[in-house]
Amino acid sequence: MTPIYERVALIGLGLIASSMFWSMKRSGLAGEVTGFARSEKTRATAREIGLCDVVCETAAEAVENADLVVLCVPVGVMGEVTADISPALKPGATLSEVGSVKQAVFDAVTPNLPAGVDFVPSHPMAGTEHSGPRSGFAERFDNRYCLIVPHEAARPEAIARLETLWQGMGANTERMGVAQHDLVCAVVSHAPHLIAYTMVGVADDLRRVTDSEVTKYSAAGFRDFTRIAASDPTMWRDVFLNNRQATLEILGRFTEELFALQRAIRTGNGALLHDYFTRTRAIRRDIIEAGQDTDAPDFGRVGKT
Ligand code: NAP
Repeated sequence: MTPIYERVALIGLGLIASSMFWSMKRSGLAGEVTGFARSEKTRATAREIGLCDVVCETAAEAVENADLVVLCVPVGVMGEVTADISPALKPGATLSEVGSVKQAVFDAVTPNLPAGVDFVPSHPMAGTEHSGPRSGFAERFDNRYCLIVPHEAARPEAIARLETLWQGMGANTERMGVAQHDLVCAVVSHAPHLIAYTMVGVADDLRRVTDSEVTKYSAAGFRDFTRIAASDPTMWRDVFLNNRQATLEILGRFTEELFALQRAIRTGNGALLHDYFTRTRAIRRDIIEAGQDTDAPDFGRVGKT
């Protein structure tokens, strides 16, 4: 396949960047891929496992002559990384980033954006609880959605080209506005992560009372929360601090619903509970029909654990 970009630079070499690299290589979507990560340790690991064609010592060096630069760093450092690389960006290049929040990233990046560079943020809805340069794999984006949130000044051809790249990496792309993106992600990702962190924190407190029982009987449901609550602390701290408004809005609604269910339990309102659980069960069916999860019982773990 003819490469979509001759030269791509990945800044930050963790789960998303490494998945992008293997995925681009799988289908020949990029001529040469350069990479940079903050620590010497991550750069050494990247060199050892062949992650990127060239691993550079500075971000500025990595982006030199790149047609596409993708920032794959935590949301809270997108602005400073852009300021660092902006003098080295090639005119006509596309700058993208894969952060889980968009308004705060727009606010941090655009003041540092040089003229002649198209800013086309993207967000692959394809995380796992693993992080770091060894955690990526080529199939990571297959049949997952990637939201494209272009800056209003970005040229249509630059947007279309980035969409073609994500599609080549297996993703379905959808364009979205900044505010809509942050609200949707607060519902489907950010609030659920906070709830999982809280549930696991509560159980950890209880564990001191019940000793090992929380771990021993975790297959009853608890372990599914622990997968989400094992996600990277830096990334998630930055997500909550940078998507405050939408996350607090969803948590407010969540608390209201929780109180309604609490009241139904206290007053013995079985009909309300049954109706509520019937509605939520249908959402699980929709997700399976949309090909976003397996229909196998217990996520396919049956017989394997
Ligand atoms: P990750 O595996 O933790 O990797 C983050 C990378 O960023 C590491 O290589 C780290 O370098 C580097 N980094 C951190 N600060 C830096 C700085 N100031 N300058 C240069 N490099 C820096 O993270 P990830 O899961 O790939 O997430 C990357 C981005 O994708 C985040 O913005 C996140 O919100 C977004 N995202 C994540 C998911 C998910 O579920 N994981 C899904 C979609 C989008 P060192 O290793 O040297 O510290």
